[in-house]
Amino acid sequence: MKTITSREKSSPRTDKRSRRATVHHNGNGNGHPTPSASRGASREVTAWLARPKRNLIDGRWVAARSGKEFDVLNPADASLLTRVPDSTGEDIAQAVQAARRAFEGGPWRRLTPSERGKLLWRVGELLLKHADEFAELESLDNGKPRAVARVADVPLAADLFQYMAGWATKIEGNTIPISVPYAPGARFHAFTLREPVGVVGQIIPWNFPLLMAAWKLGPALATGNCVVLKPAEQTPLSALRLGELLLEAGLPAGVVNIVTGFGETAGAPLVADPGVDKIAFTGSTEVGRLIVRAAAGNLKKVSLELGGKSPNILFQDAGDLEAAIKGAANAIFFNHGQCCCAGSRLMVEQGIFDDVVEGVAREAKKIKLGPGLSDDTQMGPLVSEDQLKRVTNYLHQGKAEGACYVTGGGRAGDRGYFVQPTVVKDVRPEMSIVREEIFGPVVVAEPFSKEEDLINRANATEYGLAAGIWTRDLAKAHRIAAGIRAGTVWINCYNVFDAALPFGGYKQSGWGREMGHEVLEHYTETKAVVLGL
Ligand code: NDP
Repeated sequence: MKTITSREKSSPRTDKRSRRATVHHNGNGNGHPTPSASRGASREVTAWLARPKRNLIDGRWVAARSGKEFDVLNPADASLLTRVPDSTGEDIAQAVQAARRAFEGGPWRRLTPSERGKLLWRVGELLLKHADEFAELESLDNGKPRAVARVADVPLAADLFQYMAGWATKIEGNTIPISVPYAPGARFHAFTLREPVGVVGQIIPWNFPLLMAAWKLGPALATGNCVVLKPAEQTPLSALRLGELLLEAGLPAGVVNIVTGFGETAGAPLVADPGVDKIAFTGSTEVGRLIVRAAAGNLKKVSLELGGKSPNILFQDAGDLEAAIKGAANAIFFNHGQCCCAGSRLMVEQGIFDDVVEGVAREAKKIKLGPGLSDDTQMGPLVSEDQLKRVTNYLHQGKAEGACYVTGGGRAGDRGYFVQPTVVKDVRPEMSIVREEIFGPVVVAEPFSKEEDLINRANATEYGLAAGIWTRDLAKAHRIAAGIRAGTVWINCYNVFDAALPFGGYKQSGWGREMGHEVLEHYTETKAVVLGL
């Protein structure tokens, strides 16, 4: 069984294991951390952070078999929030076995679809009941403003569970009139069943930790699967708290197991485990490729939601130009640019190029940076020191290659992982900042003049996740939307998500779709049953 490591990856990623300087053994004298980093947090969240963190395996909270833990840091000031289990293959194997037991027998398989749906609905209700707490936790762990998490991440996660609750009773097969030409006169009754795939390994990233957990767990549970979920090492907290709510909602033991750890030592064994029937992954295209290779062992089913370098196209006839400029700024700066669908390539019609670039730069300069828990913060820090290095490296490369920085261009302050909202122009197609996913608050602006070239240029990327079009000419909008090879096209809006709307990528942005009814395909097998009459 091959395990994959980040050292085998091609790009200049740092070795994640080495950057966690502090790996602790339980009970080795370090004790549990005083959560100094939760300053400004509520008493409730502070108390939760101070409690020991464990993996959820088979309905119980257990330490990693090795006894090791790693630090979870507040990206606003790099202080310690808490420690979580540093799990390895042994813990993963235990979790997979628990999921398998829960899948093969036990109360989960005996629940009616209606009972399953009600359970998922309750998870949504519990999330809303604890919405303030989750928003705070997400802000501390990821860096995003608490207010944003409160109006976006948490309600969207709750809504996803409740949308999927509705599907639990609607997973239907078909009756099929068959002819069987080689059996003249014979009669049959044929139908299909949609059955759960089995044990699903789910690996999620750090940009929307709670929402990504919901996107993954909701459809898996609505269709009756059992899950081992590995949250990102940077942001494991909301998944652990969600695990508590899942138990409170009445989820039977072993149906959802949550194991914290690093990609190489916990994620890779999950992908390689022969007891796993399917892997659902969100993250970088690079790791997506590793997952496809590693899943080949037992030919696991794989769904992938990967990176993007999305064109956001602004025409001279956009109508309300100010609104379009604000829309373009939101398309890149929302969630600090740490969105797979960020509108990171701003393509502007020549005649309004200077005005738009200036306008977006003006919006960028207005953004108030600060810790997520401060009420006036509009943009928090990037998630980690790694991400800070990655984004600032791109900024250095862009400068070295001759791009012009209209605003921003570097780190903000010297504490925490803040980056200035950045607008870049005078770029060339071969520059790394134009081709590669930066995953930070950095937009590159390019002028265009001809519609024919525009579609080719917009599609000149290995990615195909999303695109934006700003015009009042609806025929043109539809023409461009049809020509763009991407899973989502927003017209006169951007970053519009809904549990009912499928989301995913063309080309190297992934395989399959999240949300909507499309996602249910990934979590079900079709069985054809034929009865001779
Ligand atoms: P990764 O793709 O490395 O991380 C995503 C998830 O995959 C995490 O849970 C990670 O674990 C896990 N993982 C990492 N390596 C492996 C492996 N070998 N086998 C199984 N699981 C693994 O993204 P990064 O955090 O390194 O971010 C780097 C870049 O990826 C970003 O700059 C951005 O471009 C892109 N990205 C895209 C996202 C998207 O939404 N499409 C989300 C996040 C990142 P762990 O974190 O514990 O190591």
